[in-house]
Amino acid sequence: MTDSCCCPPEAGNAVCELPAQSFHRPPRATHTCPVCGERGKPVLGQTVKALLSVSLRAVQEVKYLFCKTQTCPVVYFSPDGEQTFTIEQVRERVYQKEPDGDDVFVCYCFRHTVGELRAASPESRRIIVDDINTGINAGQCACDLRNPQGSCCLGNVRGLIKRIEAPPAVMVK
Ligand SMILES: [Zn+2]
Repeated sequence: MTDSCCCPPEAGNAVCELPAQSFHRPPRATHTCPVCGERGKPVLGQTVKALLSVSLRAVQEVKYLFCKTQTCPVVYFSPDGEQTFTIEQVRERVYQKEPDGDDVFVCYCFRHTVGELRAASPESRRIIVDDINTGINAGQCACDLRNPQGSCCLGNVRGLIKRIEAPPAVMVK
């Protein structure tokens, strides 16, 4: 065995007899997704527990992060990047991963889908946004338990409406 331990040379690490696998490097908290490398957004433990479709025995006492990168299959990951939960391990389809999926919820609490917003008239879209606001003000939302991102959907709803109503300008020659 040529593995040496982490002791300094003066402590005799070259002749250390301890097997290498007995050493645990302290996990490095990077807060970046181990698959796409983007920074994650912290979510509450209850969000992960509410949204996972796998046994909650897998849930650790760590502060999980949410990966919003569209092309990345990871939804939640541990700060050290050692553990990931992917889209197949989450009960809901994730808006950030499928922002153009008609059946995907953009507002999880009040059940509004991407397709519904797309098909609605501009006035109906305003009514939906007003209704979401009314629900929020009435304390009826539960974004930490319903929305995979663990926070309010309103920014996503507004962003989606913007995307629907003002598609990227087409270059005209
Ligand atoms: Zn990712």
